Amino acid sequence: MKHIDNCINEFDSSALDEVTALNKIIKTIKSIKEKEDIPIKDAYNRVLAENIKAKISIPNFNNSAMDGYAVNIKNLIKNNYVLKERSVSLAGKPFYGILKNGETVRVMTGAVIPDNADAIVMKEMVNVKNKKITFNKNIKKNQNIRFVGEDIKKNKIVFHKNSQLTYSKVAILASLGIKKVKVLKKPIISFFSTGDELISIDKKLKKGQIYDSNRYLLRGLLEKFPVIIKDAGVVADNEKKIINKFRKLSKESNLIITTGGVSVGDADYIRDALLKIGSINFWKISIKPGRPLAFGTIGSSYFFGLPGNPVSTSVTFDLFVRPAIYKILSLEKRKDITIKATLVGALRKKRGRVEYKRGILFKKEDKYYVKASGLQGSNILSSLAIANCYIKLGMDIENIKESEIVTTIPFEVSHE
Ligand code: AMP
Ligand code: MG
Repeated sequence: MKHIDNCINEFDSSALDEVTALNKIIKTIKSIKEKEDIPIKDAYNRVLAENIKAKISIPNFNNSAMDGYAVNIKNLIKNNYVLKERSVSLAGKPFYGILKNGETVRVMTGAVIPDNADAIVMKEMVNVKNKKITFNKNIKKNQNIRFVGEDIKKNKIVFHKNSQLTYSKVAILASLGIKKVKVLKKPIISFFSTGDELISIDKKLKKGQIYDSNRYLLRGLLEKFPVIIKDAGVVADNEKKIINKFRKLSKESNLIITTGGVSVGDADYIRDALLKIGSINFWKISIKPGRPLAFGTIGSSYFFGLPGNPVSTSVTFDLFVRPAIYKILSLEKRKDITIKATLVGALRKKRGRVEYKRGILFKKEDKYYVKASGLQGSNILSSLAIANCYIKLGMDIENIKESEIVTTIPFEVSHE
């Protein structure tokens, strides 16, 4: 099939580069300050608004890392490596005494060990005969003991303010006996689509109409963040209607995102609407897909006007909206992980802009390869759906030949 390019392709000297645009965005955005206390079971992905200090050590008592026998090495040598089993210490059912001359205590994983034990010997390494335990001679001090505080020391700051609570961090909160945490309130992010051709999925398609997919794309992209998502539907290509929607949403949103209507076509009203009720930066950005982008403020809300083509929506979200949300949430944006890969097949590319192609990255005999995931037009969602990476082609690169090395940005890592 012939690839028909449906984006404006000419080099545009007034276009802003991606990094400059992003810096302007990040500079404008202020992080939210509102906080709330919530139970830790609701805290996954939330952003801490306080430092978390450990009130106990983890582990909180010296315990065994194995099912085996607790010994005191000096005493073991004195008794020529044969000891008598005195008692058993189970996880949650401790043995409270200390080891006396000639004694060992059988211990289970996680069980308290006697204070004067200085090694645990795995049960597979001993000989047992009528409670008489014979040990081998290869025993090292402290082996198989989990010491107090080796994971987390009491009074240490375990997590800092403005860090995000992953599932393992929430599990640590539970280990520390913390029931509630202070987190940043979820910012409200509203979005709507613009376009006379768009209808919602509960309606019947007439000729010339299309179902609105961008709102579903955006919801999916936003769901990974600790934010409240407000789907504000479809708005027609009508300046007045767009202004009314902006007025309403700006009263209740930290961020408003629109898709479509942001170019300079006859039916593109986002820019004009914004000029009337907000402040706006309208940029052509030297990237493909996703050239036109509007960013600004309406009242106390931030605003992104993304291009309407679904792949452009997705790419501009990744490049600009994602870091903006990180800033709103006071989070440090993780740097994208890039993987150099050998290109399978050739790629078309024009000099003077950065292009993000959708690719499939794979490994063969310890080497990374990447190929285009399908047609690369900014309307082709199916090649985004099967892609697992972007192939990022820098400003100065021109058409790329088979077997050249290219930079890929894997989705699983960069989309977290
Ligand atoms: P626009 O940015 O409004 O010029 O739209 C560019 C292209 O994207 C057009 O083909 C639109 O029909 C399409 N488009 C715009 N918004 C959406 C949407 N919400 N869902 C699917 N396609 C859209
Ligand atoms: Mg439109």
